[in-house]
Amino acid sequence: MTARIVVTTHLPGDPVGLLRAHPVGRDAEIVHLDVTRKPTREELLDAVRGADAILPHIPDRIDAEVMDAAGSGLKIVSNYGVGYDNIDTEAARQRGVIVTNTPDVLTDATADVAWMLILNAARGMQRASRELHEGTWTGWHPAQYVGKDLVGRTLLVVGMGRIGLAVARRAVGWRMRILYTARSRKTEAEKAPVNAVRVELDEGLAEADVVSLNCPLTEDTRHLIDARRLGIMKNGAVLVNTARGAVIDEAALAEALEQGVIHAAGLDVFEREPEVHPGILGQERATILPHIGSGTEDSRNGMTEIAVRNLLSGLLGEDPPNRVA
Ligand code: NAP
Repeated sequence: MTARIVVTTHLPGDPVGLLRAHPVGRDAEIVHLDVTRKPTREELLDAVRGADAILPHIPDRIDAEVMDAAGSGLKIVSNYGVGYDNIDTEAARQRGVIVTNTPDVLTDATADVAWMLILNAARGMQRASRELHEGTWTGWHPAQYVGKDLVGRTLLVVGMGRIGLAVARRAVGWRMRILYTARSRKTEAEKAPVNAVRVELDEGLAEADVVSLNCPLTEDTRHLIDARRLGIMKNGAVLVNTARGAVIDEAALAEALEQGVIHAAGLDVFEREPEVHPGILGQERATILPHIGSGTEDSRNGMTEIAVRNLLSGLLGEDPPNRVA
């Protein structure tokens, strides 16, 4: 019997060509929703009917309803993305469906964006650049555009995994003291030259000049940074999020920036993408980017290759390399 494979969006790197190049994909029925937007729920439910494998991207919510629409033949959901909070892994487990992600290939690209945000937020680049574009700059003055120093200051990485470690490694160039949180000890990060020290979250927030969020979005980390924790942070601190929007209570952050509870925020991700909380959108001390963390040619092409490889492996009945459930 030929397999039915559903790719839910346009992806760089020719996913259909890669699937067709493999014996399993050669004769498969491949449904490719080749659109550069999120498919509607109806399009998604319709497309997955009878699917053996689904290759979704981060905005697709793959829950019990989608898995049941696919039916009992569904073997694998191969997510395009390292974060897989869009997939109900418990529903997958109950149905014996494998779930995979695309780690590593996007680590450096995302860590670069974290640093782009750290530098831009600390120095107020968004406002400065906007005023220059708008023609409202009045010429150099010592009291203008005065930001925060970074060299020798303290960085807290919340979630010292692959991306968190890459962010920390870059901080060595700024001679920063590095603190981290994670549920388990990370010996690689504790070695020289990073020399990271594991702390409790509240302790780290109180000491850090820069906080970089790099944990996955789970039930434990939803609104991990809320009004109380923003209140623990230093007034001069910079908060950067390249993880997932809902790790921060966005309304609380908007209020904290308005009240000067912290100095600035740099955000690549938002609670209700593509919406941004109006208090963040209109806040000049929030440097914001439209979820571009993994957005380099090598990362995005590599993610397609990994997602296709995982999918084919799952269809062959193997244990795919990047299995997360
Ligand atoms: P990873 O290697 O799994 O790292 C995540 C780390 O977070 C792990 O080391 C984990 O360690 C820690 N963690 C888990 N739960 C935690 C908690 N409750 N408190 C503190 N730390 C916790 O994943 P990664 O490849 O670095 O990716 C991290 C996240 O970045 C992804 O999940 C994704 O959502 C996001 N991301 C965003 C973009 C973007 O475009 N902006 C791109 C790529 C990734 P323990 O298990 O020991 O706690």
